[in-house]
Amino acid sequence: MPPELKCPFCALIVPDWHFEWHTKEDQADVFLGKKTMACPYCHAGVAFDGFAVSKVELPGDVAMRDVVKATRWARVQSKSLRDYLETREGEPYVGVWTDAEIDAADKLVASEGA
Ligand SMILES: [Zn+2]
Repeated sequence: MPPELKCPFCALIVPDWHFEWHTKEDQADVFLGKKTMACPYCHAGVAFDGFAVSKVELPGDVAMRDVVKATRWARVQSKSLRDYLETREGEPYVGVWTDAEIDAADKLVASEGA
């Protein structure tokens, strides 16, 4: 989430911004305007207030999405992260992490059990 919002920089519709993939600390900083989240297409730092994405004058640090949080999220959808990155919503995030990072996170989360 949020889904289907247009990036204010590149104007592409992002199927899912995956705010929830950030760490709790980064989520709090984004809400406070101390950090921005990265557009998966153009990598610009975009502000997010819980409802809308917008341009900001001073983007601050761009928060990086957390590979383990993303993998746990995918597991809730009964997918590995690698499988999710092949879906329409996941495809923009191919390239955020290396193959080795994705494999390691999928193994770790699978080992956590259900
Ligand atoms: Zn963009």
